[in-house]
Amino acid sequence: MANTRIGMGYDVHRLTEGRKLILGGVEIPHTVGLLGHSDADVLIHAICDALLGAAALRDIGFHFPDTSDEFEGIDSQILLRRTVALIREKGYTIGNIDATICAQRPKLNPHIPQMIDTLSECMDIPTSDLNIKATTTERLGFVGQEQGISAYAVALIENV
Ligand code: MG
Repeated sequence: MANTRIGMGYDVHRLTEGRKLILGGVEIPHTVGLLGHSDADVLIHAICDALLGAAALRDIGFHFPDTSDEFEGIDSQILLRRTVALIREKGYTIGNIDATICAQRPKLNPHIPQMIDTLSECMDIPTSDLNIKATTTERLGFVGQEQGISAYAVALIENV
């Protein structure tokens, strides 16, 4: 019988001038971008943590520490690929992933199909196994005040 496991991930990055806004592997035109040691792709980081959590493999900071020069400025798609490799090495396959990006601005819905295409290819899963949603927080809190962007993800994995 298949062993089905669930994991969740959450991440936040600060918005700042002079950085590109990269979400779900897609560069989105905006006046500010996310600050971080890597490219600060908050959606990918939440997905990595959901996958690692489902496999009981700690978290993204454990595997890819932000003190390491190796990961400075790195494309988070590389981290996602490596995360998926860790999951598969343990004998798991990805069931499905559902994620939510919380951002007041810019409008993300037009970019979501491209994020799904990019990340499903990165993880080598069908696009129907990855769902990405976007919401504002009605101008409330750090997201609503455009100080940062957060992302949540849940993942099911199976050991067949
Ligand atoms: Mg992060």
